[in-house]
Amino acid sequence: DDDGDTNRKRPNILVTGTPGTGKTVLASLIAEQTGLKHINVGDLIKQHKCYDGHDSTLDTHFLDEDKLLDIMENVFQECEDENIGIVADYHSCELFPERWFDLILVLRANTEILYDRLTERGYSEKKRSENLEAEIMQVVLDEAREAYDVEIVHEVMSNTVEDMESNVERCRIWLNQWTANNS
Ligand code: ADP
Ligand code: MN
Repeated sequence: DDDGDTNRKRPNILVTGTPGTGKTVLASLIAEQTGLKHINVGDLIKQHKCYDGHDSTLDTHFLDEDKLLDIMENVFQECEDENIGIVADYHSCELFPERWFDLILVLRANTEILYDRLTERGYSEKKRSENLEAEIMQVVLDEAREAYDVEIVHEVMSNTVEDMESNVERCRIWLNQWTANNS
């Protein structure tokens, strides 16, 4: 069996991508339609205050990565013990242990569409242009391809509602296949 060293009965999915590409919306839908447990990593960071200082120029907190990973490790272990699969969403992916995930979805959006979404979100011009540039340079996709087996990294478009629906459907099919292969 070449599906790695997991003993999981249910797989774990990571939805990643530049802010505004639609991770949280998609991960919620996947959870709703498949029974996977949605973990919004950004929310987890806020809830548990996984902060390590504050950058006043960028007006952002520095992430306390060790604290976050400890908390997540517990969640992943508990879910594995209870045969619950996870769909996590976060704008970065290289910080997580490779063994946590069976599928990495990297969401992509066109520049104009992302511009509008980030404007609507009230991002400052600086923060907006930083994120747009990161999307154009496919920073998250490259990060995912470096951090994980390229075979599990899937780049998917997330411009339209139709894209979203097809991404959910794709996950459902993948999940059924994974379950068939691992039982
Ligand atoms: P992220 O979690 O990646 O920052 P969100 O899931 O919060 O992004 O989505 C940002 C905004 O874009 C939301 O208003 C959401 O409804 C919209 N959106 C996300 N994905 C799509 C899509 N595929 N088609 C249309 N609108 C989308
Ligand atoms: Mn989000």
